[in-house]
Amino acid sequence: MRAWSVAAPGPVEEGGLRFVARPVPEPGDDELLVHVRACGVCRTDLHVAEGDLPVHRPGVTPGHEVVGVVAGLGAAVRGFEVGERVGVAWLRRTDGTCAYCVRGSENLCPASRYTGWDADGGYAEYTVVPAAFAYRLPGGVDDVSLAPLLCAGIIGHRALRRASLPPGGRLGLYGFGGSAHLCAQVALAEGATVHVLTRGAAARELALKLGAASARDSREMPPEPLDSAILFAPVGDLVPLALRALDRGGVLAIAGIHLSDVPALHYESELFYEKEVRSVTSNTREDGREFLALAARHGVHATTHTYPLSQADRALRDLKAGRFDGAAVLVNDLS
Ligand SMILES: [Zn+2]
Ligand SMILES: [Zn+2]
Repeated sequence: MRAWSVAAPGPVEEGGLRFVARPVPEPGDDELLVHVRACGVCRTDLHVAEGDLPVHRPGVTPGHEVVGVVAGLGAAVRGFEVGERVGVAWLRRTDGTCAYCVRGSENLCPASRYTGWDADGGYAEYTVVPAAFAYRLPGGVDDVSLAPLLCAGIIGHRALRRASLPPGGRLGLYGFGGSAHLCAQVALAEGATVHVLTRGAAARELALKLGAASARDSREMPPEPLDSAILFAPVGDLVPLALRALDRGGVLAIAGIHLSDVPALHYESELFYEKEVRSVTSNTREDGREFLALAARHGVHATTHTYPLSQADRALRDLKAGRFDGAAVLVNDLS
């Protein structure tokens, strides 16, 4: 099969991501072999390819928004069948026994492993996944539309929950890419007023089309104080701005796995009156199942931009340069 490999982590313009030939992987006892049909392109893939995240597996294949079909079963797998459509996401394994796992916070498990970082992911014709961490997918939605829901959607959903938006509340979204435009749809369906703050004119247009009450540049203030805000842009400089935009008691959730340094904060205008800053770390399988059900119920729709699997490097360069709105999805056109 063909697969992309992070041969030399570094700027994606410099060709460290290579399209190589590899044997089709063998599923372990508790794993599924998945024939990849579509794989979303997440900003985390860019961080893996460029070495912003430390190397966990040399030459790893990125990709953790995989929609595919079960093509083989490990000896111990029960409850899945060959030919069934499944999703493969970022959280790949936990120990299930530590204090965090036991209290329902498996996203904090120190022994957790991640698809497309610790193990090869979906920028390939085939991949494997532990059956316990594969998602069953709703019918009636095509592969390309589903792929971005598996990370961008799920993490956006966890960020929305972490931001503790009150019913009918005022939500600010800083950055409006793959994750934010899915999160916005759930928030709007649940009755929130959404204000989008992002530098891209096309993204602001998409935000208004989806029903946002306002869309401004990320350096501007929203038209009203916010009950909650989510920072999707990996830009620490925006943290003080977002905190100033919060109403008293407001919560800012930071959705990214990687953030440039946060500048010194001004206590009176940015933290006092019980404003809170919270990070968001990965997600639990429960978050994933909850979001996939909500997405199906509310008809959450990913705005996608497709690339053939053989052009994953171009997709990552375009993501880095902000050349599309919504979410990029690789389509397996090889097998
Ligand atoms: Zn654990
Ligand atoms: Zn992701």
